[in-house]
Parts: sequence; structure tokens; C-alpha cells
Amino acid sequence: MKKKLLIITTGGTLACIQDEKGLIPGLSGRDILDYISDITDLYQVDFLELFQLDSANIQPKNWQTLAETIYEKHRDYDGVVIFHGTDTMAYTSSVLSFMLPNIPIPVVLTGSQLSILNPLADAVENCRCAIHMAASSIPGIFLAFNRKVILGTRASKVRTTSFHAFESINYPYIGEINSRGLDLQSSYIPRLTGPCKLRKDLEEKVFLIKLVPGFDGKIFQLLYEQGYRGVIIEAFGLGGIPSLSSEVMKDLEEVIRKGMAVVVKSQCPYEGSDLSVYETGHAALQAGVFQAYDMSTEAVVTKLMWLLGSYHHREDIEKNFYKNLAGELRIPETILL
Ligand code: ASP
Repeated sequence: MKKKLLIITTGGTLACIQDEKGLIPGLSGRDILDYISDITDLYQVDFLELFQLDSANIQPKNWQTLAETIYEKHRDYDGVVIFHGTDTMAYTSSVLSFMLPNIPIPVVLTGSQLSILNPLADAVENCRCAIHMAASSIPGIFLAFNRKVILGTRASKVRTTSFHAFESINYPYIGEINSRGLDLQSSYIPRLTGPCKLRKDLEEKVFLIKLVPGFDGKIFQLLYEQGYRGVIIEAFGLGGIPSLSSEVMKDLEEVIRKGMAVVVKSQCPYEGSDLSVYETGHAALQAGVFQAYDMSTEAVVTKLMWLLGSYHHREDIEKNFYKNLAGELRIPETILL
């Protein structure tokens, strides 16, 4: 019997047509099917057109609709493919990993750098990888691009135009298409730990700051006054925050004392933070920040949105922040909490 797959379309370049104002998503599921029917013929495929969005317009409420849809339909399908714009696809793959813990089927996001209408496009190849991964029976949330499969919480868009636009951050690729077919590294795929749940509450008031020399810590208070409940600071190197000639540390302490959750991560995408090495990191830990270790920016932002939506006490937020919930976090053994 053919495997049953659901393809959910949300827009993005893959589904774009040229308009006088630029590229806009406009192709229907049926239009796209014409280009990939040789792949979809291997399976029984249903299409669901959920949004027609450039992914720059994706909002947390769209993530909630997407998570609800997948949760409602997952028992009827062997796998789900989501066509999504590349710009925010890694945020979506991360957040779905937290919102749908223990999803028992593969859910695979993909998109492309060129519209499927373009004869030079990467679109068909990306669909091929995603559809085969969705039929693999390997549970979890994944992102398929340029013949590679990345764990949903480890994907990041790192190039704007090349076909190798996504990388797996601080984690091995889950699979690739090569002469063996879809060659999967199953030991890197997180195991299911219980029944699937829909955990869709998110806190939208989360802000991301990238430090530059001369940074003024007053911004923390302004964010607090604007109702922000979580801040992620992309700090220098291993996680350094100016501690000498500025008031930054005091401003930080103040908002943490008032209840804001503050996370420090490295600005460097690779190899993660370790705030225990320098005095500039120690001071931040003492002020009460959490550190992100090897998590990607997309994973930290969405994990904090999800934790603040799900828990209300600092102890619960902290305890779960340092748990590896969906393959997003590896704390080096020398500093295991
Ligand atoms: N702006 C597009 C989007 O994210 C880019 C793409 O899909 O590659 O929707």
C-alpha cells in the first residue's frame, strides 16, 4: 500500500509568481503538483493550502495554526511536508519542535531559492528530498534543503542566494541524498519519550539584541516597560558582556530582578557559549542570566517564546531551559549542571 502524505503549503519563493511589485507567492498546490508528480506518484498525497505568505510575514499565530493543523491530522498520515519560505523557515522548524513534542511521524519543511516555475530552480530537488524524508517513518521535525536533512532545532539560513542556504548548527546533518539514496544518521535523531502533545502557547514579547562595543544597557529597562518578558543577548565570543566602564550589568540585574528572562548566547553561530571562562561572563551569570550553550539563534528565540508561554515561575522556566527538549541543546560534559 502506498504511504499517505500530507503536503501543507504556506507560500514562499517555491510558490512565487512575478508580480509588478516583485515576487509574490501565488501558485496553488495543484500548480506545484504539476512539477513534482513523478515524486508524488510514489505516494498517496493530499494537499492543504494553509497560507500564501512570504515567510517574512509569518507570525506566531501562523505557527499556532500550523501546529494545530499538524496535530489534528497526524494520525491520518505517514508523514507531512510543509512548503515554506526560506527566510523564516528555521524559526518555524524550531518552534514546531517545541509545540509538537513526540510527534510520531516525520514532519519535513522545505522551500527553494527559485520559484518552481524557473527551469533552473532548486525547488523540485528540495521537494524530492523532503517528500522522501516524510515517507521515511522517522519521527520528528526536520528541514530538507539542497539534498540534506537537518534536525528542525538545528537549522539556520546562512546564505541569501546560493542553493546551500541552510546549515546544521553545532550538530551533524541527519541525512543526505547520495548514491545510497536517502542516507540517514539515525543515531542523531532524538527518540520519542511519550505520547504526542500539542503545546501551542507562545509568548510573543521576546526580543533579540546583538551587542556592539558601546552598547547602552538602558534598552533593557525600555523593553521591560514595553511589556517584553524575555530578551536574548547575542554577546561577544564565549558570551562576554561589557562589565567594566558601563552600567550594562546593573541594568541587566534590575530587569532580571523584576522578572524578565534574559538569555546570553554567543554572536558566533558555531561552538556555543561558555560564560564560566571570563569575568565578563561570570558577572552576567551572577546577574541571573541563562546561557544558551550550543543552541542556534532560531532555537533560543523560539524556545524562550515557548517556555514563557508554557510556564510562569522562574524555576520552571530555568529548569526546562537547560533541558534538551528537541535535540536543540548539548551542554558540554565538563560543565553539566
Ligand atoms: N522571501 C522568501 C520567503 O521567505 C524567500 C524564500 O522563500 O526563499 O518567503
